[in-house]
Amino acid sequence: MNTHKNIAIFGSTGSIGTQALDVIRANTDKFTVEVLTGNDNVDLLIKQAIEFNPNTVVIADESKYLYVKQALQPYDIKVYAGNKSIAEVAKMDSIDMVIAAIVGYAGLESTLSAIEAGKQIALANKETLVVAGDLVTTLAKENGVNIYPVDSEHSAIFQCLAGEFHNPIEKIYLTASGGPFRGKNRDFLKDVKKEQALKHPNWEMGAKITIDSASLMNKGLEVIEAKWLFGLAVEQIDVIIHPQSIIHSIVQFTDGSMKAQMGLPDMKLPIQYAMSYPQRIKSDFSRFNFMNYPQLTFEPADTNTFRNLSLAYEALKKGGNSPCILNAANEIAVDAFLKDKIGFLQMGDLVEKCLQTIHFISKPGYEDYINTNKETRIVAAELISSSMLIKSI
Ligand code: NDP
Ligand code: MG
Repeated sequence: MNTHKNIAIFGSTGSIGTQALDVIRANTDKFTVEVLTGNDNVDLLIKQAIEFNPNTVVIADESKYLYVKQALQPYDIKVYAGNKSIAEVAKMDSIDMVIAAIVGYAGLESTLSAIEAGKQIALANKETLVVAGDLVTTLAKENGVNIYPVDSEHSAIFQCLAGEFHNPIEKIYLTASGGPFRGKNRDFLKDVKKEQALKHPNWEMGAKITIDSASLMNKGLEVIEAKWLFGLAVEQIDVIIHPQSIIHSIVQFTDGSMKAQMGLPDMKLPIQYAMSYPQRIKSDFSRFNFMNYPQLTFEPADTNTFRNLSLAYEALKKGGNSPCILNAANEIAVDAFLKDKIGFLQMGDLVEKCLQTIHFISKPGYEDYINTNKETRIVAAELISSSMLIKSI
């Protein structure tokens, strides 16, 4: 059986993208790079292109097109610009699998396009499922496309389900480290700065997801992601804080049996599993040693302090375009926090306000999602600039 795959990495210059390239570099007999895309980090994109010699490179930021084009002139590599081009390139016949590793809503269009073109998807871009989980999963079914989770918790669930796909799930437990502010109260959180929030105890990731992890919004987004990936009801998805990040998540079956997937925190493993499923590829990733972790501990999530997790559950229960509103407001909130425009707790206030304000649509289509995303961003930006956010405590 020929298992060689031609891979397109959307977001190759990011944390997931560069680690996907590490996996490919170690397994050149199994994977070839067909497409690379970046947004801001042109020099890294050019360096990657020269090393991996893909068919095509796309720079999302159109103002940087000439720079990339000129740098890659001596090579036989096509260069395009803009997110529309990423969506176009997704349809290339030569691509077997797309690694969707763009951060945020910006990754939606190209992921939909890749699914429509029948490409297998390794999905890191959880926001895609948060914004339009119904559309994405329906389209995947229609086109016979498998969506392989890259997110470590969802990869854990997927790994536990191997050989069990016909057995109903009773419940899943998504584990969360709790982030850098585990155990803190709102009085402490109101003054924390981005430098503190960017220090994740166990994972090194892009800035947006690191802030989401500190505020527990990441876990909220993952609850919504899990609903769509595994076809679960909201009551079947629980979150449990597990500070050591060794158990990556747990499935409970209808006979009460629980399966967990474990290992040291290293995103290369779930990335590689999504790329190689159903095979496992031998790796030299660091191995877990029980003696270094005599205690694995668990505690409930503090949703009074970290309200974002409750907001995500509420948005999921309400359905329609609510998760899309949640996501758009959160993207603006994180961006504003990273630019010191709002405080840590005000991120949640902004999301809550947008969920209350933006027009609810019970059965949205693609256009509705586009409009909801746009409208929420405008309203959120106005709320920030008019200082209408209540100082949260
Ligand atoms: P990064 O910020 O490190 O990378 C994001 C990538 O997307 C970069 O290649 C970036 O390009 C590109 N990008 C950013 N904005 C745009 C845009 N507007 N249009 C097109 N491309 C854009 O993020 P991560 O790698 O950390 O995360 C990527 C996704 O994976 C997120 O959805 C995240 O939630 C998810 N994820 C990440 C994990 C991790 O460990 N990092 C774990 C689990 C999930 P450039 O750098 O050139 O600007
Ligand atoms: Mg995760």
